[in-house]
Amino acid sequence: MRSLASGAVLHIHTHTFKGTVPGAGRAYIQSSMHGSEVQGNAVIAELLEVFARTPPRGDVVLVPNANPFAINQKAGEYTPGRFDPTTGENWNRTYWLPTLGDVRRPRWPQLKQQAWSRLASQLRTRLQGDLPFGRRLALTLQSLAVGADYVIDLHCANVSARHIYTPEHCADAARYFQIPLILSIPATFDGAMDESVSAPWWTLWQALEAEAYPDLPPPEDLPRGYTLELGGQEVISREDARRDAAGILNFLREHGVVGGRAKKPEPAYLCRLEDYKVIHSRHAGHADYTAAMGVGVKKGAQLAQTLQFGPSPSWLPTLAEEDCIPVLHHSSAIIHTGSELLKVFTNVRKV
Ligand SMILES: [Zn+2]
Repeated sequence: MRSLASGAVLHIHTHTFKGTVPGAGRAYIQSSMHGSEVQGNAVIAELLEVFARTPPRGDVVLVPNANPFAINQKAGEYTPGRFDPTTGENWNRTYWLPTLGDVRRPRWPQLKQQAWSRLASQLRTRLQGDLPFGRRLALTLQSLAVGADYVIDLHCANVSARHIYTPEHCADAARYFQIPLILSIPATFDGAMDESVSAPWWTLWQALEAEAYPDLPPPEDLPRGYTLELGGQEVISREDARRDAAGILNFLREHGVVGGRAKKPEPAYLCRLEDYKVIHSRHAGHADYTAAMGVGVKKGAQLAQTLQFGPSPSWLPTLAEEDCIPVLHHSSAIIHTGSELLKVFTNVRKV
Protein backbone atom coordinates (compact mmCIF):
# COMPACT_ATOMS: atom_id res chain seq x y z
CA MET A 1 0.00 0.00 0.00
CA ARG A 2 3.03 2.30 -0.08
CA SER A 3 5.56 2.24 -2.90
CA LEU A 4 8.97 3.43 -1.82
CA ALA A 5 11.39 5.43 -3.94
CA SER A 6 13.62 2.36 -4.28
CA GLY A 7 10.81 0.41 -5.92
CA ALA A 8 10.01 -1.69 -2.84
CA VAL A 9 6.34 -1.88 -1.86
CA LEU A 10 4.99 -2.09 1.69
CA HIS A 11 1.72 -3.91 2.31
CA ILE A 12 -0.72 -4.24 5.18
CA HIS A 13 -1.69 -7.86 5.79
CA THR A 14 -5.17 -8.49 7.10
CA HIS A 15 -6.54 -11.72 8.56
CA THR A 16 -10.30 -12.12 8.41
CA PHE A 17 -12.29 -14.77 10.26
CA LYS A 18 -15.88 -15.25 9.19
CA GLY A 19 -18.06 -15.76 12.26
CA THR A 20 -19.97 -19.00 12.77
CA VAL A 21 -23.10 -17.30 14.13
CA PRO A 22 -24.90 -14.81 11.87
CA GLY A 23 -25.61 -11.54 13.62
CA ALA A 24 -22.96 -12.02 16.33
CA GLY A 25 -20.86 -8.90 17.05
CA ARG A 26 -17.91 -7.97 14.86
CA ALA A 27 -14.42 -7.06 16.09
CA TYR A 28 -11.48 -5.32 14.46
CA ILE A 29 -8.05 -5.47 16.12
CA GLN A 30 -4.92 -3.74 14.84
CA SER A 31 -1.44 -3.37 16.27
CA SER A 32 1.73 -1.36 15.86
CA MET A 33 0.38 1.82 14.28
CA HIS A 34 3.28 3.29 16.25
CA GLY A 35 6.27 1.40 14.90
CA SER A 36 8.10 0.86 18.20
CA GLU A 37 5.01 -0.55 19.96
CA VAL A 38 5.20 -4.20 19.03
CA GLN A 39 3.66 -6.24 21.84
CA GLY A 40 0.30 -6.12 20.02
CA ASN A 41 1.86 -8.01 17.12
CA ALA A 42 2.71 -10.86 19.50
CA VAL A 43 -0.86 -10.72 20.81
CA ILE A 44 -2.31 -10.93 17.30
CA ALA A 45 -0.03 -13.92 16.62
CA GLU A 46 -1.65 -15.61 19.65
CA LEU A 47 -5.16 -14.70 18.50
CA LEU A 48 -4.44 -16.12 15.04
CA GLU A 49 -3.52 -19.46 16.65
CA VAL A 50 -6.63 -19.44 18.83
CA PHE A 51 -9.01 -18.62 15.96
CA ALA A 52 -7.36 -21.20 13.66
CA ARG A 53 -8.28 -23.84 16.28
CA THR A 54 -11.68 -22.39 17.26
CA PRO A 55 -13.29 -19.92 14.86
CA PRO A 56 -15.05 -16.98 16.53
CA ARG A 57 -18.86 -16.65 16.63
CA GLY A 58 -18.71 -13.19 15.07
CA ASP A 59 -16.52 -11.79 12.30
CA VAL A 60 -13.03 -10.80 13.41
CA VAL A 61 -10.48 -8.80 11.41
CA LEU A 62 -6.87 -8.80 12.65
CA VAL A 63 -4.27 -6.36 11.30
CA PRO A 64 -0.74 -6.80 12.72
CA ASN A 65 1.96 -4.32 11.70
CA ALA A 66 -0.71 -1.77 10.78
CA ASN A 67 1.99 0.75 9.86
CA PRO A 68 4.78 -1.15 8.07
CA PHE A 69 6.54 2.13 7.24
CA ALA A 70 6.92 3.16 10.91
CA ILE A 71 8.25 -0.18 12.13
CA ASN A 72 11.08 0.02 9.61
CA GLN A 73 12.34 3.40 10.85
CA LYS A 74 15.51 2.84 12.86
CA ALA A 75 17.91 5.36 14.42
CA GLY A 76 20.76 3.41 15.93
CA GLU A 77 19.16 0.65 17.99
CA TYR A 78 15.91 2.57 18.49
CA THR A 79 12.68 2.69 16.52
CA PRO A 80 11.38 6.28 16.47
CA GLY A 81 8.07 4.97 15.13
CA ARG A 82 5.65 7.33 16.85
CA PHE A 83 5.81 10.25 14.42
CA ASP A 84 5.77 10.49 10.65
CA PRO A 85 9.42 11.45 9.97
CA THR A 86 8.35 13.60 7.02
CA THR A 87 5.68 15.73 8.67
CA GLY A 88 6.39 15.26 12.38
CA GLU A 89 2.75 14.27 12.88
CA ASN A 90 1.82 11.60 15.43
CA TRP A 91 0.66 8.59 13.35
CA ASN A 92 -2.22 8.08 15.78
CA ARG A 93 -3.60 11.59 15.26
CA THR A 94 -4.24 11.31 11.52
CA TYR A 95 -7.60 9.53 11.57
CA TRP A 96 -10.76 11.13 10.28
CA LEU A 97 -13.95 11.97 12.18
CA PRO A 98 -17.03 10.88 10.24
CA THR A 99 -20.49 12.31 10.86
CA LEU A 100 -23.29 9.78 11.07
CA GLY A 101 -26.16 12.16 11.84
CA ASP A 102 -27.61 12.57 8.39
CA VAL A 103 -29.39 9.24 8.17
CA ARG A 104 -33.07 8.28 8.18
CA ARG A 105 -34.61 6.84 11.33
CA PRO A 106 -35.69 3.22 10.84
CA ARG A 107 -35.35 0.67 13.68
CA TRP A 108 -31.91 0.62 15.33
CA PRO A 109 -30.34 -2.39 13.49
CA GLN A 110 -31.26 -0.86 10.09
CA LEU A 111 -30.22 2.62 11.18
CA LYS A 112 -26.84 1.25 12.27
CA GLN A 113 -26.41 -0.57 8.94
CA GLN A 114 -27.34 2.58 7.06
CA ALA A 115 -24.80 4.65 9.00
CA TRP A 116 -22.04 2.11 8.32
CA SER A 117 -22.83 2.07 4.57
CA ARG A 118 -22.74 5.83 4.45
CA LEU A 119 -19.45 5.87 6.29
CA ALA A 120 -17.94 3.22 3.98
CA SER A 121 -18.90 5.25 0.91
CA GLN A 122 -17.47 8.47 2.43
CA LEU A 123 -14.22 6.66 3.14
CA ARG A 124 -14.04 5.32 -0.44
CA THR A 125 -14.54 8.84 -1.83
CA ARG A 126 -11.89 10.32 0.46
CA LEU A 127 -9.39 7.60 -0.41
CA GLN A 128 -9.72 8.53 -4.09
CA GLY A 129 -8.52 12.06 -3.31
CA ASP A 130 -5.03 13.54 -3.06
CA LEU A 131 -3.77 12.60 0.40
CA PRO A 132 -0.55 12.71 2.41
CA PHE A 133 0.61 9.21 3.31
CA GLY A 134 -0.28 9.42 7.03
CA ARG A 135 -3.87 10.31 6.23
CA ARG A 136 -4.13 7.65 3.52
CA LEU A 137 -2.85 5.02 5.93
CA ALA A 138 -5.32 6.08 8.63
CA LEU A 139 -8.28 6.12 6.24
CA THR A 140 -7.28 2.70 4.89
CA LEU A 141 -7.27 1.28 8.42
CA GLN A 142 -10.60 2.97 9.14
CA SER A 143 -12.03 1.32 6.01
CA LEU A 144 -10.90 -2.07 7.29
CA ALA A 145 -12.68 -1.35 10.58
CA VAL A 146 -16.03 -0.39 9.01
CA GLY A 147 -18.86 -2.42 10.51
CA ALA A 148 -16.96 -3.42 13.65
CA ASP A 149 -18.79 -3.10 16.93
CA TYR A 150 -15.49 -3.32 18.81
CA VAL A 151 -12.37 -1.64 17.46
CA ILE A 152 -9.33 -2.52 19.55
CA ASP A 153 -6.13 -0.61 18.81
CA LEU A 154 -3.06 -2.20 20.41
CA HIS A 155 -0.32 0.18 21.50
CA CYS A 156 2.47 0.34 24.08
CA ALA A 157 3.67 3.31 26.09
CA ASN A 158 7.21 4.31 27.15
CA VAL A 159 8.01 2.05 30.11
CA SER A 160 4.61 1.33 31.57
CA ALA A 161 2.06 -0.81 33.32
CA ARG A 162 -0.75 -2.06 31.08
CA HIS A 163 -3.70 0.34 30.86
CA ILE A 164 -6.75 1.00 28.70
CA TYR A 165 -8.28 4.11 27.15
CA THR A 166 -12.05 3.71 27.10
CA PRO A 167 -14.94 6.06 26.35
CA GLU A 168 -16.73 6.95 29.59
CA HIS A 169 -19.93 5.12 28.68
CA CYS A 170 -18.01 1.84 28.09
CA ALA A 171 -15.75 1.87 31.14
CA ASP A 172 -17.64 -0.93 32.83
CA ALA A 173 -17.31 -3.23 29.81
CA ALA A 174 -13.58 -2.43 29.57
CA ARG A 175 -12.96 -4.33 32.81
CA TYR A 176 -13.38 -7.58 30.87
CA PHE A 177 -9.99 -6.99 29.20
CA GLN A 178 -8.53 -7.94 32.61
CA ILE A 179 -6.28 -4.89 32.67
CA PRO A 180 -6.83 -3.23 36.05
CA LEU A 181 -5.88 0.35 35.09
CA ILE A 182 -8.62 2.08 33.11
CA LEU A 183 -8.45 5.60 31.78
CA SER A 184 -11.90 6.97 31.09
CA ILE A 185 -11.94 9.53 28.26
CA PRO A 186 -14.79 11.63 26.88
CA ALA A 187 -16.23 10.28 23.61
CA THR A 188 -14.79 13.20 21.64
CA PHE A 189 -12.28 13.27 18.77
CA ASP A 190 -8.63 14.20 18.88
CA GLY A 191 -7.41 12.23 15.86
CA ALA A 192 -6.93 8.74 17.34
CA MET A 193 -8.33 5.48 15.97
CA ASP A 194 -10.42 4.59 19.03
CA GLU A 195 -11.96 8.08 19.06
CA SER A 196 -12.79 7.91 15.34
CA VAL A 197 -15.21 5.10 16.25
CA SER A 198 -16.51 6.11 19.68
CA ALA A 199 -17.04 9.83 18.97
CA PRO A 200 -19.36 9.71 15.91
CA TRP A 201 -21.57 6.95 17.35
CA TRP A 202 -21.84 8.76 20.68
CA THR A 203 -22.76 11.99 18.88
CA LEU A 204 -25.42 10.13 16.86
CA TRP A 205 -26.75 8.50 20.05
CA GLN A 206 -27.07 11.88 21.75
CA ALA A 207 -28.97 13.27 18.75
CA LEU A 208 -31.32 10.26 18.76
CA GLU A 209 -31.91 10.66 22.49
CA ALA A 210 -32.66 14.38 22.06
CA GLU A 211 -35.31 13.66 19.41
CA ALA A 212 -36.83 10.83 21.52
CA TYR A 213 -36.01 8.16 18.93
CA PRO A 214 -38.20 5.23 19.99
CA ASP A 215 -35.68 2.42 19.40
CA LEU A 216 -32.76 4.01 21.28
CA PRO A 217 -30.22 1.31 22.27
CA PRO A 218 -28.39 1.45 25.60
CA PRO A 219 -25.10 3.38 25.15
CA GLU A 220 -23.13 0.18 25.86
CA ASP A 221 -24.51 -1.27 22.61
CA LEU A 222 -22.89 1.41 20.45
CA PRO A 223 -19.86 0.61 18.29
CA ARG A 224 -16.84 1.81 20.19
CA GLY A 225 -13.05 1.94 20.13
CA TYR A 226 -10.53 1.01 22.81
CA THR A 227 -6.81 1.67 22.95
CA LEU A 228 -4.94 -0.95 24.94
CA GLU A 229 -1.46 0.04 26.09
CA LEU A 230 0.31 -3.28 26.46
CA GLY A 231 3.39 -2.39 28.48
CA GLY A 232 6.56 -0.74 27.24
CA GLN A 233 7.68 0.02 23.70
CA GLU A 234 10.54 -1.75 21.88
CA VAL A 235 9.88 -5.06 23.67
CA ILE A 236 7.71 -8.13 23.28
CA SER A 237 7.01 -11.05 25.59
CA ARG A 238 5.28 -14.17 24.28
CA GLU A 239 4.30 -15.15 27.80
CA ASP A 240 2.66 -11.76 28.40
CA ALA A 241 1.07 -11.96 24.94
CA ARG A 242 -0.76 -15.12 26.02
CA ARG A 243 -2.19 -13.22 29.00
CA ASP A 244 -3.00 -10.16 26.86
CA ALA A 245 -4.76 -12.35 24.29
CA ALA A 246 -6.69 -14.11 27.08
CA GLY A 247 -7.96 -10.72 28.28
CA ILE A 248 -9.05 -9.69 24.78
CA LEU A 249 -10.77 -13.06 24.30
CA ASN A 250 -12.53 -12.59 27.63
CA PHE A 251 -13.84 -9.21 26.46
CA LEU A 252 -14.96 -10.69 23.12
CA ARG A 253 -16.61 -13.60 24.94
CA GLU A 254 -18.59 -11.19 27.13
CA HIS A 255 -19.86 -9.52 23.94
CA GLY A 256 -20.67 -12.75 22.10
CA VAL A 257 -17.95 -12.39 19.43
CA VAL A 258 -16.20 -15.49 20.83
CA GLY A 259 -17.96 -18.58 22.24
CA GLY A 260 -17.98 -19.53 25.93
CA ARG A 261 -18.60 -17.80 29.21
CA ALA A 262 -16.59 -14.72 30.12
CA LYS A 263 -14.75 -14.63 33.43
CA LYS A 264 -16.10 -11.97 35.78
CA PRO A 265 -13.56 -9.17 35.93
CA GLU A 266 -11.48 -8.40 39.00
CA PRO A 267 -11.83 -4.90 40.47
CA ALA A 268 -10.02 -2.23 38.47
CA TYR A 269 -8.80 1.32 39.09
CA LEU A 270 -10.52 3.99 37.05
CA CYS A 271 -9.06 7.44 36.39
CA ARG A 272 -10.69 10.23 34.42
CA LEU A 273 -8.57 11.84 31.71
CA GLU A 274 -8.36 15.17 33.56
CA ASP A 275 -6.92 13.32 36.56
CA TYR A 276 -4.19 11.63 34.49
CA LYS A 277 -1.29 13.86 35.50
CA VAL A 278 2.08 14.40 33.88
CA ILE A 279 4.97 14.95 36.27
CA HIS A 280 7.67 17.05 34.57
CA SER A 281 11.20 16.73 35.87
CA ARG A 282 12.39 19.55 38.11
CA HIS A 283 15.92 18.12 37.99
CA ALA A 284 18.18 17.48 35.04
CA GLY A 285 20.45 14.44 35.11
CA HIS A 286 20.03 10.68 35.08
CA ALA A 287 16.74 9.46 36.50
CA ASP A 288 16.41 6.28 38.51
CA TYR A 289 12.68 5.49 38.46
CA THR A 290 12.20 3.94 41.89
CA ALA A 291 8.40 3.56 42.00
CA ALA A 292 6.89 0.39 40.51
CA MET A 293 4.56 1.15 37.61
CA GLY A 294 0.95 0.17 38.28
CA VAL A 295 1.31 0.13 42.08
CA GLY A 296 -0.38 2.85 44.14
CA VAL A 297 1.75 5.14 46.32
CA LYS A 298 0.91 7.64 49.04
CA LYS A 299 1.60 11.37 48.96
CA GLY A 300 5.25 12.01 49.81
CA ALA A 301 6.54 8.64 48.50
CA GLN A 302 9.58 8.76 46.23
CA LEU A 303 8.80 8.25 42.53
CA ALA A 304 12.28 8.80 41.10
CA GLN A 305 15.72 10.06 42.10
CA THR A 306 17.92 11.98 39.70
CA LEU A 307 21.69 11.81 39.73
CA GLN A 308 23.23 15.22 39.17
CA PHE A 309 26.91 16.05 38.92
CA GLY A 310 27.98 19.39 40.31
CA PRO A 311 31.28 19.63 42.23
CA SER A 312 30.17 16.29 43.71
CA PRO A 313 27.39 13.84 42.79
CA SER A 314 23.99 14.24 44.41
CA TRP A 315 20.70 12.36 44.17
CA LEU A 316 17.61 14.59 43.96
CA PRO A 317 14.28 12.96 44.79
CA THR A 318 10.96 13.47 42.99
CA LEU A 319 8.14 12.85 45.45
CA ALA A 320 4.45 12.15 44.89
CA GLU A 321 2.50 15.35 45.53
CA GLU A 322 -0.69 13.34 46.14
CA ASP A 323 -1.79 9.71 46.41
CA CYS A 324 -1.44 8.24 42.94
CA ILE A 325 -0.71 5.22 40.76
CA PRO A 326 2.39 5.69 38.57
CA VAL A 327 1.48 4.31 35.13
CA LEU A 328 4.41 5.13 32.87
CA HIS A 329 7.80 6.76 32.91
CA HIS A 330 10.24 8.25 30.41
CA SER A 331 11.99 5.58 28.33
CA SER A 332 15.45 7.01 28.99
CA ALA A 333 17.37 7.81 32.16
CA ILE A 334 18.72 10.97 30.53
CA ILE A 335 16.47 13.83 31.57
CA HIS A 336 16.45 17.62 31.15
CA THR A 337 14.37 19.90 33.38
CA GLY A 338 10.79 20.00 32.13
CA SER A 339 11.01 16.55 30.52
CA GLU A 340 7.96 14.32 30.93
CA LEU A 341 9.23 12.19 33.79
CA LEU A 342 6.16 10.14 34.74
CA LYS A 343 2.42 9.94 34.22
CA VAL A 344 0.22 9.01 37.15
CA PHE A 345 -3.43 8.22 37.85
CA THR A 346 -4.85 10.50 40.55
CA ASN A 347 -8.32 10.67 42.17
CA VAL A 348 -8.60 6.98 41.38
CA ARG A 349 -11.91 5.16 41.83
CA LYS A 350 -12.16 1.42 42.37
CA VAL A 351 -14.72 -0.15 40.00
ZN1 LIG B 1 1.02 4.24 20.52
